Amino acid sequence: MSEPTIFERIVDGEIPADIVHETDRVIAFLDANPLSPGHTLVVPKEPHERLRDTPPGLSAEIFEAVRTLTPAIEDAVEADATTVGINDGPAAGQEVPHLHVHIVPRFEGDGGGPIHAVMDGAAVDGTVDSGTIAAAIAEELE
Ligand code: AMP
Repeated sequence: MSEPTIFERIVDGEIPADIVHETDRVIAFLDANPLSPGHTLVVPKEPHERLRDTPPGLSAEIFEAVRTLTPAIEDAVEADATTVGINDGPAAGQEVPHLHVHIVPRFEGDGGGPIHAVMDGAAVDGTVDSGTIAAAIAEELE
């Protein structure tokens, strides 16, 4: 058996967290190193590592929690907007191998950027045309 993730330990009550929402299958708590006040993580209680590992019904429950929490958090911290994101895999910056959605409250003039800023300066391979990529994705879904 692999070591429980830090988020499983929060679910099990082994380590403390500021829990803001909980259902049978989903838990949400404040991030320990917040990017802004109210930065919250929405986490399935089962330790699925990535989106590709997560059963469809559970992913719907996770996103329902995100939908419910986002305006509540905005109102609680008087934010102007929210960035929602997932680091889905180590190459995307995922450090905790247990799926989680970041809800990051945003404020006018907070100095942060849009999600597009994540790829600022990254080398993009423009050699494959978009039609080929779209066809490859559609084929994967068949
Ligand atoms: P990621 O890079 O997407 O895997 O993000 C992991 C997040 O988990 C980071 O934002 C951490 O600050 C947060 N984190 C790590 N340990 C804890 C903890 N014990 N309680 C709350 N948040 C945590």
